[in-house]
Amino acid sequence: MSFNDSAQLDTSQVQSGGSGGGGGGFPGGMQVGGGIGGLILLVLMLIFGGGKLLGGGDSGSSAGGLPSQQLESGQVAAGGQVDQGEFSQCRTGADANKNDVCLIIATVNSVQDYWGKTLPRYQMNYEPVRTVIYQGQTPSGCGTANSQVGPFYCPLDSKVYVDASFFQELEGKFGADGGQLAKEYVIAHEYGHHIQNQLGILNRAQQDPQGPNSGAVRIELMADCLAGTWVKHATETTDANGTPLLKPITESDITSALSAASAVGDDRIQKKMQGRVTPENWTHGSSEARMNWFMQGYETGDLNQCNTFGVDTVS
Ligand SMILES: [Zn+2]
Repeated sequence: MSFNDSAQLDTSQVQSGGSGGGGGGFPGGMQVGGGIGGLILLVLMLIFGGGKLLGGGDSGSSAGGLPSQQLESGQVAAGGQVDQGEFSQCRTGADANKNDVCLIIATVNSVQDYWGKTLPRYQMNYEPVRTVIYQGQTPSGCGTANSQVGPFYCPLDSKVYVDASFFQELEGKFGADGGQLAKEYVIAHEYGHHIQNQLGILNRAQQDPQGPNSGAVRIELMADCLAGTWVKHATETTDANGTPLLKPITESDITSALSAASAVGDDRIQKKMQGRVTPENWTHGSSEARMNWFMQGYETGDLNQCNTFGVDTVS
């Protein structure tokens, strides 16, 4: 979906993660892909999908050699990482239509406005959370993460983490189309995990982490569905002045969202990575299931229709 050119963005809803390593998080920091530590980290994080695909060989060097940054002072070392100062260039919807970092900010604004208006109708209050935009590597409440993980939600610090370069991977490696809703869907999916955290059901993913109808897959498909409900109501979201954040949705927007949902299906990723499909290892659900649950949310616009635990099979 395209943003309304004149909508004003609220950059206070995001923060820069830069590429510092070894900072916050658990003592010693944990590296994804680094054995046991990586396993623990992956269990705690709600990753967007396809961690393996992203870790295919271009990792490791992404953040190496860059000077560490001081998060407290907001200073960011040179080297291509996201700079909090960069956010100041993200003023309007027109900026979000041109620049991916601004698009993340605008999407966060819209998604949070949606949940803030929607949850009270379900007798709940929405607790806003920030998105950390980083490049290369970042400390998080779930340990040190690097870009091979892809976007994720950390329930321990209740923040969404997005590597600013992920959208290029989504298109190039995963094969999603380059449409804006393909990207916005990723952000909305991660905020879906925050809603699940507020609902107290996120641990169901950890209790039953693999398989086509596992708790993990049901949690992921629910997040896709919740993202779909946002899309349905996204044009009703506004900036602080009441100006709509988004232009009306188009058919090609939905095509883009579905291309992203399909691109990150476990079966599609497995076929690409290991040449065969092993449903017993699924953590996010098949391409078809991810598209179906997204559409379930989009068509109904009702989060009660996203109860993936209320059906026998989800995949
Ligand atoms: Zn997820």
